[in-house]
Amino acid sequence: MPMPHTMQPIGIIHSCFKEKFGIPRQAGLAPDARATLELLPPYNRPEALTGLDGFSHVWLLFIFHGNQKPQNKQRKNWKPTVRPPRLGGNKRLGVFATRSTYRPNSVGLSAVELTGYGQEHGKLVLHLRGVDLLDGTPIIDIKPYLPYSDSIPTATGGFAPSAPSQSMTVEFTPSAEAVCQEIEQAIYPNFRRLVSQILKDDPRPAYYGTKPQKNRFGIKLLDFDLQWQIEGIEGNDGNKIMVLDVKRIET
Ligand code: SAM
Repeated sequence: MPMPHTMQPIGIIHSCFKEKFGIPRQAGLAPDARATLELLPPYNRPEALTGLDGFSHVWLLFIFHGNQKPQNKQRKNWKPTVRPPRLGGNKRLGVFATRSTYRPNSVGLSAVELTGYGQEHGKLVLHLRGVDLLDGTPIIDIKPYLPYSDSIPTATGGFAPSAPSQSMTVEFTPSAEAVCQEIEQAIYPNFRRLVSQILKDDPRPAYYGTKPQKNRFGIKLLDFDLQWQIEGIEGNDGNKIMVLDVKRIET
């Protein structure tokens, strides 16, 4: 048996996603989802990033810390088969054939856009876009994305051959729209675009399809709680999402 290897996070993610519900199912699906990656001591040495100029994307290796369980229950944190949401949640596939967050070593892998990096307020940070990462995610490594080798145009995608269909139309009530405009001016450019990118892919778990009575949901984004509901358009049930309300979360 090879020796177990202990790893120490090299950084931590500060992301717009404050809870798992609503995070895109893969990196790049919501290009306006921004995060900063703060490098932690002793890895916060500017020379550790020398040469990163010119790379538009990086790979992040991280820990699915939001799934971690107490030490005595960790063996139960994975199963050899999982139910990918992509297949409606009712078919089991091998964990190593999926990108499930429940896996033996809880390691995740995302290719994200790098928009800048440098020293800010005494911290060494990387600015990222298109993230699918929960706030507080521990990062265990960063590697540059190498288009000549990492992009494989002839690759086939198994049970997930293309991006999920963008089936939902997203609209805002006038009051939600007004709050979003304020957020865009003061805190987060393109906030409405981000909300639309998240909701158009329908973040509801697959099993909600069998619970049509529940149609009102909430998502926490930045310091805001977004309330939204499923509605029908043009005689079709359930293909419109209406953002009803956007409220600052009181701490
Ligand atoms: N791109 C990564 C991969 O393939 O390893 C992640 C894919 S995983 C299917 C994406 C989901 O992971 C998100 O929708 C979110 O719910 C969940 N997630 C993101 N960060 C997490 C964290 N730190 N802990 C637990 N779950 C997380």
